Amino acid sequence: MYDTLIIGAGPTGNYIAAQLARFGHRVMVIERQVRFGKSTCCTGIVGKECLNTFSIGREAVVNEARSATFFAPSGKSLELSRPDTQAYILDRKIFDDYLARHAQAQGVEYLMNTRVNDIQTSSTGVRVAAASNGRKVVLEGKCAVLACGFGSNLPVGSRSGKEGDFVMGAQAEVALSDDRGVEVYFGNSVAPGFFAWLVPTIAGQGLAGLMTRSHTSLHMQEFLHSLQASGRIGSQQGEVKFGGIPLKPLRRTSGKRILYVGDAAGQVKPTTGGGIYYGLTCARIAVDVLHRAISRNEFSSRTMSRYDRRWKRLLLRELRMGHRARWLFERLDDHQIERLFDLARARQIDRWMQHYDGFSFDGHGQLLLAIARYLGPFGCFSAVRTLSTGWLRPR
Ligand SMILES: Cc1cc2nc3c(=O)[nH]c(=O)nc-3n(C[C@H](O)[C@H](O)[C@H](O)COP(=O)(O)OP(=O)(O)OC[C@H]3O[C@@H](n4cnc5c(N)ncnc54)[C@H](O)[C@@H]3O)c2cc1C
Repeated sequence: MYDTLIIGAGPTGNYIAAQLARFGHRVMVIERQVRFGKSTCCTGIVGKECLNTFSIGREAVVNEARSATFFAPSGKSLELSRPDTQAYILDRKIFDDYLARHAQAQGVEYLMNTRVNDIQTSSTGVRVAAASNGRKVVLEGKCAVLACGFGSNLPVGSRSGKEGDFVMGAQAEVALSDDRGVEVYFGNSVAPGFFAWLVPTIAGQGLAGLMTRSHTSLHMQEFLHSLQASGRIGSQQGEVKFGGIPLKPLRRTSGKRILYVGDAAGQVKPTTGGGIYYGLTCARIAVDVLHRAISRNEFSSRTMSRYDRRWKRLLLRELRMGHRARWLFERLDDHQIERLFDLARARQIDRWMQHYDGFSFDGHGQLLLAIARYLGPFGCFSAVRTLSTGWLRPR
């Protein structure tokens, strides 16, 4: 009987496993992949808060960013920069590998190449049924953490409300002609309702990707062709990988003997689809709640719901603001996006950003409020007038 069974060896599962093992609890992580981070589709950008708060993953940093260039549909650009490093680019394979090795060093057991098919809870514990190399495996624990990411085959939503809004992402490794920092492309012909990116990683290489609600593969091929045609990238260096990104959290992320963490719970920034920092932030709360529950042998829905309350107090407002901003943005046509760029340039948002004290890579709702304050009533009126026809358009 394990104290905790964790499904998924992504950042959140590995982090929780290591921290619980440090408290002396017996932990098993079950992962369907053969190797850590092997098939992960992720750019790996995290704000400096993430590395500073968790003090993990510096070994996986392949590049740093203090600026990003945003491209309007017409190709006009706006560079936003800060005096110091704002974000780090992690190699996700190295990151996941490092976190798992760290957990193993704390005594965590891993069962790789094993796909969990079912989880049953009872008054005495949880039973996890899995398939490993064609064999049936049954594991028992006092509680389970579903850290299985988005779109797992597990019935994640059945107890806690269905996974709601989501978007598909696509990404490929590419040869970069030169490192011009992070580039973000907007426009309905590039990535309708969302954006595309080109992010330099190690010398001469980068990641090109985008997010869209539909025809993701087609948009990705066109994006890669346009980057090649403009000479920004050379060859594509690997297959295009795809991944789903939840844009809304589950209504309930806890139950008797069960917690949902990370993408499985929908703890992702709806503005950018970034989930590593929010997932780890919630994982830290999960560790605290699980440690108390294991120590007192008390796993009732009520005890476990402390996790729900605590992470929502911290992040739910930000997630809701982000989701509203995303909803509005998706209703803009290219002309309106162009006019927003014009407004940003006219009001010298780039200069303001250089000196804005409260900048946080992960607090987009707060950033939007700060921009609104900076623009003042007249600037906000002008932005609202630009956007309002788009907001009324159904999608
Ligand atoms: C194209 C793209 C780009 C992204 N870029 C960024 C970025 O730059 N920055 C950022 O912060 N976030 C980014 N994300 C999101 C980020 O990848 C996720 O938020 C993060 O990986 C979530 O971590 P997790 O531990 O919750 O789940 P995951 O990393 O998804 O890990 C879940 C693990 O569970 C395993 N698993 C699933 N089902 C089962 C099962 N039934 N049995 C056993 N094992 C199972 C999976 O194999 C996987 O290893 C991006 C996502 C996409 C799609």
